Amino acid sequence: MLVLENITFGYPNNTLFENLSLKIKSGDVVSILGPSGSGKTTLFKLITSLNKPAKGYVSIESEKCFASKISYMTQEDLLLEHKSVMGNLLMVFKIKNPFKLKGFKEYFRKKKLFREKALMLLTQMGLHGYEDFSPSALSKGMRQRVSLARALLFERPYLLLDEPFSGVDPKRRKILFQILLQMKKKYNLTILQITHDIVDARELSDHVYSLTDKALTKEVLS
Ligand code: ADP
Ligand code: MG
Repeated sequence: MLVLENITFGYPNNTLFENLSLKIKSGDVVSILGPSGSGKTTLFKLITSLNKPAKGYVSIESEKCFASKISYMTQEDLLLEHKSVMGNLLMVFKIKNPFKLKGFKEYFRKKKLFREKALMLLTQMGLHGYEDFSPSALSKGMRQRVSLARALLFERPYLLLDEPFSGVDPKRRKILFQILLQMKKKYNLTILQITHDIVDARELSDHVYSLTDKALTKEVLS
């Protein structure tokens, strides 16, 4: 369970949330709607501890230190232009021993597995053959798919997606929904997505909330 408890947060002269609370059950898909500037991205930054609340707290499975449980796809894709698509997907291996593995053999085995899985995800997302391309050669929707693949690669139990499909055409969107739901089932993911599209939100989610007037309101799904 992901819990936001009585969160108050704002930037100078701009209070965004007052006593905001939310509980998300493990395994659920939840969508958050809301007008631009209402604080949706800020809410994700609070969940990922990039922002600290003035009041209240966030917890996952009753713990307040949970960074390793979250994979975060940011609103801007943050792909590095000087790296290839695959280079971006394998960036984690630039960190010294990111998975705390014993010895080179384990390290290279993990990297090989990561690469294979990255290739599989790229293929499923219609990006086979683009591994060596620079992100600058891709459209916005393609970049978003690379960014989504990167978030999925980590198999972390909580997935935060900030407007993941905004640049993706409707047909491709349906394919990505299927991939996402398959991954959710396989790895028992809990997914929280921000979207502007109420039809997408309803199709994909167990629960939908709207962020307006500094609070979350639950939408009734018919
Ligand atoms: P949304 O994602 O719903 O469009 P954001 O969370 O990005 O909204 O922003 C909410 C409000 O907070 C906006 O008015 C934005 O200008 C402001 N804001 C966002 N980030 C900062 C920041 N780092 N410093 C000051 N104000 C910010
Ligand atoms: Mg935003």
